[in-house]
Amino acid sequence: MYIFTDIRSELEVDLIAIRRNAHAIKTYTGKELIAVVKADAYGHGAIAVANTLKYTADMFAVATVEEAIELREARIDNRIFILFTPYPYYAESIVQNHFITAVDNWPVIKMLRDMKKIFDIAKENPSRVRVHVDINTGMNRSGIHYNDAARYINELKIKPDFEIHGVFTHLATADEVDKSFSYLQLERFSSAIENVPNSTIKHAANSAAALVIPESHYDAVRPGLSLYGIYPGNEKPIPLEPAITWKSRVSWVENIEAGEGVSYGLTYKVTSRTRVAGIQVGYGDGYPRALSNRGDVLIGGNRRPIIGRICMDLMVVKLEQNDDVLIGEEVVLIGKQGDEEISVNEIAEKADTIPYEILTRIGKRVKRIYKESDF
Ligand SMILES: *Cc1c(COP(=O)(O)O)cnc(C)c1O
Repeated sequence: MYIFTDIRSELEVDLIAIRRNAHAIKTYTGKELIAVVKADAYGHGAIAVANTLKYTADMFAVATVEEAIELREARIDNRIFILFTPYPYYAESIVQNHFITAVDNWPVIKMLRDMKKIFDIAKENPSRVRVHVDINTGMNRSGIHYNDAARYINELKIKPDFEIHGVFTHLATADEVDKSFSYLQLERFSSAIENVPNSTIKHAANSAAALVIPESHYDAVRPGLSLYGIYPGNEKPIPLEPAITWKSRVSWVENIEAGEGVSYGLTYKVTSRTRVAGIQVGYGDGYPRALSNRGDVLIGGNRRPIIGRICMDLMVVKLEQNDDVLIGEEVVLIGKQGDEEISVNEIAEKADTIPYEILTRIGKRVKRIYKESDF
């Protein structure tokens, strides 16, 4: 028997789970929700996720101007916030599309102002460019130094073309057990923004901080990973549901004779006659090659180990001798099947990385299938 399908591998995305997670975080923190949908919503699909969270999120956050444009072109009318000061080259697009952008220097302010002047010529009532000042309180990867932030804000405040819509910082160690550096960053942030008016949105919390550091909540929280049902650390104060199931199918079943090896380098040697299955997923799809001879997949509700090196397009798993496995049968790489589950965190740990990297690397060849049953 052969199960026909046109899909090599698919990522089933449960949009309702994402919406429930967003509501849970919003209720728990009681603050505005800046839903982080950068990097194609951590691989889940930015347009689908943004549509799902249209009425839940107060604002969407992305990393790049291209990501912001993608959402606008998909008719997402919510406020869209660009998390990192863009290169001045992008000023035109920011002004034209009314994006809200992070700023931490003067060149980008000058470019935004020049662009705005050009666009204002045609307008009766030009609106101001809305910016959020990025304040570096110790992560040292972006933002204006906390000692210089108050002056930058004061100078920016009197520029008529701009509205300081928000001020924010980012925490370097919020997911760690020891919260002392987070508290130091929050102190630096609080004193840098002492004279910022109440109407300005102040925010600092990524997922980890939103979940476990109430002092970081200010006016809005900025979660990404937790929207997708994954905890950044060990603490789990509210229930969240993972939203993806990565599925493929068995494409080949064979017996390999004792003494033979499997895949490049023949790193796995078969000691007795062994039944194996081939699956058409590899590192070219974003499945980490580091899981060669280490990872498992689910077939028929059972864990079966990956043997030999994972190739660009294929992997091989070891079956039990009496496994009754059909070509075309469902294989789960991430998610649940029967009573078994392989989590994103399990894959990340085995690959010696973080769940963020596993999610954002799931490639274009993996077709996204959206479940939105109770729409
Ligand atoms: C990515 C990012 C977030 C979201 O972080 P999570 O850990 O996924 O919640 C929030 N703020 C900034 C500035 C980011 O770059």
